[in-house]
Order: sequence, then structure tokens, then C-alpha cells
Amino acid sequence: MATSRKPARPHTLATLVLHGGEGPHAPGDPVVPPLVQSVNYVQEPGGDDNLMYTRYGNTPNADRIQKRLALLEGAEASLMLASGMGATACGLLALLRPGDHLLASQFIYGGTNRLLTEEFTQMGINVTLVDPFEPRAWRKRLRKETRAIFIESPVNPTCRVLDMRGVSLLTKELGIALVVDSTFASPVNFRPLEHGADVVIHSATKFLNGHHDVLGGVVCGTVPYIDEVRQKEIVWGQTPDPFACWLLERGLKTLDVRVKRQNESSMQIARWAEARKEVRRCHYPGLESHPDHEIAVDQLDGFGGMVAFELAGGARAADRFAKRLKLARYAASLGGVDTLVSEPRFSSHSRLTADERARIGIPDGFIRLSVGLEDVDDIIADLEQALR
Ligand code: PLP
Repeated sequence: MATSRKPARPHTLATLVLHGGEGPHAPGDPVVPPLVQSVNYVQEPGGDDNLMYTRYGNTPNADRIQKRLALLEGAEASLMLASGMGATACGLLALLRPGDHLLASQFIYGGTNRLLTEEFTQMGINVTLVDPFEPRAWRKRLRKETRAIFIESPVNPTCRVLDMRGVSLLTKELGIALVVDSTFASPVNFRPLEHGADVVIHSATKFLNGHHDVLGGVVCGTVPYIDEVRQKEIVWGQTPDPFACWLLERGLKTLDVRVKRQNESSMQIARWAEARKEVRRCHYPGLESHPDHEIAVDQLDGFGGMVAFELAGGARAADRFAKRLKLARYAASLGGVDTLVSEPRFSSHSRLTADERARIGIPDGFIRLSVGLEDVDDIIADLEQALR
């Protein structure tokens, strides 16, 4: 199905994050857009045309941010939802009906895994989890009811990078949708629609907002598809409050500078980690040792603000390391201005068994680092004292 068409982008991303979708300005206009914290709007009597209501996702702050997010991804339209999970759920439910089959990468955020394998299955949507690094993996598991392929790239938390070429050729050949969760990259580093995806999903809670103070999600695609997603958003009540839209607009203004700085710091931290004897393995797509380094060079504009490493001392070493951190905070979530450290076995992938985690490359002792905007030498000094 055609879920993406690409409109031309009038400016580069650094300008779009500040002004994308804005109309002309005039003397007296506020430089900061007003927060319109109203749920209801006065209507023309005698019809339901143009009914504005916060849950319909069509109020002023939602409209502004949705135009901008669509421009950033090079999509016709976008919708902001109440969370990344809301975006994934509504984005996929707009494509799938009971009896349909979804192929999904097994390398996905734990919450998404649960949504697909528990909730969707109960709704009569069949889901097959696939190892996307196995040759011809997708084609082998196709069924005549397969309606979409869902991938996450780069992958939380292993930073694996999926090659878009084969899978996007397959979805085009079959006329089914390719849906990409691009949370880890942000549009600064990767724009999936340019690589054959039909739908892009983000947890806006992460890099897009970048300040650890908004929960939100985004779905981008064509106008008719986004209208379908909006119907799901409306009935499942997944719409964000205007204040969340307003805060996301504020956070987004610095996306370009934040992510570029996070890319640079992460590269330095990854090189440092790779050289430490306490670290068995460092996972960062910018490292030549990363299994997907060449794909990352080809596909990404930056290697990202997430670094992961496995401690040689396993779970006990990870406990000790986490307790000794002074600057970096031990907290779930990612993509913000403050450096956060987490252990996926206790956070993003806690509902998987240790064996299931090991199968997707997350052994005990695995540390995920979301690199913030602190001076990189200070971050490294903190990690180093915690390792010693
Ligand atoms: N997708 C990815 C890759 C994530 O890491 C997360 C959360 O960690 C989500 C989706 C869900 O986002 P949210 O917490 O905003 O619902």
C-alpha cells in the first residue's frame, strides 16, 4: 500500500526544527507561539464540520507541531500522540485487521514486543518475530495475509542498524507497508522515508523532545494513512494535551544541535569504552568493530547518541558500576540533555527472560548509555571512576 509520498523540503533540517510549517510573520506576533490550553472551540451551529476538540488532534498546538514533524521526516503528514507506545499501537492498528499477519523484527523495544505478541495476538492479528540479520529472513516468513513489516533501527539497546535495501524492495514488490521505529536516530541521523519506508514512528519522549519532560509519540506517512491513524487515536484516546505539544515544539528547536553534539560525544565515549579492559564489548555503530558499521556509514547521517557496553564482570560488575556513578543518572528512558545509564534487564527489556534477552544480544552486565550534553571529558571521568 502507498503510505508515503515525499514532499519537497523548503529548508534544511537545522532551520526546519525552528520554523518548519510556520506562516509569514508580522509585527506584534509573539516569537514564542502561545499555548492554547483549551479543550473546546466555538463552532458554527448546525453541523459537525471543522469540529475542534483536543482528543481529535486538531487544535492549534497539535497542528503546529504536526506540520513541523512531517517536514522533518519528509512526509506528507504526521500525528502527535500521547506516547511512543500510543504511536506504535495506533500506527499499526491503522494498517492491520483481525486475520492479518505482521512480520516484525525480533530486535525491538520490550514494550513494543509485548504490544505485538500479547495484545495484537489477542485481537486476532498474527505476528511473527523475525531475525532480520538472517539471509532472506522476511521473504521466508511471508504469508498471503502479511500486510506490513515492522522494524526498529537503530535497535534499542544494541544499536544494531538494519539494512533498509532488501526489506524495502520486498515491501514495494508486495505492496505492503514498511513501518520503521526511528526513535534512536531522530531525523537528524536517519530519515527512513528516504530509504523506502512508508511509515515512520518515534517515541517523541526521547531525542525529539530531548529534555526528559514530555511523553509523546509521532507517526508520519501519507495524508490518507494519517487520517486513519487519527481515527484510532480518537477512539483509543491517545491524543496528547496541548501543553505536551507546546513543550515538544520547544524541545524540538534544539534537536539539530543536540543530536550533533550527542553524536560527537558518543563517538569519543565509545572509543574510550572499547579500550577498557573491564569492557568485554562496546556497541556503537560508529566503531569499525560494530557488525553493522558499513550499513551505518551508508545509511545514517550520524551514528547517534546511544552507546552500550557489556561489562566483563557481568551482573555484579554492572550493579557496582551503576551504584558508583556520580554525574550520570541511573534512570530509564533516553535521548535527553542529561546523561542516563540503564540496564535493559531492569528497564526496557525487563519482561523478557534472561534467555530471550541473550538471544537478542543483551546478556546480564549490559549497560545502556544515553549520552547527554555534559562535557564529554566529565562524562568519561564519571564512567571511569565508576568502573575502577
Ligand atoms: N520505541 C522505542 C525504540 C523506545 O525505546 C520506546 C521507549 O523506550 C518506545 C518506542 C516507547 O515510547 P514511550 O515510552 O514514549 O511510550
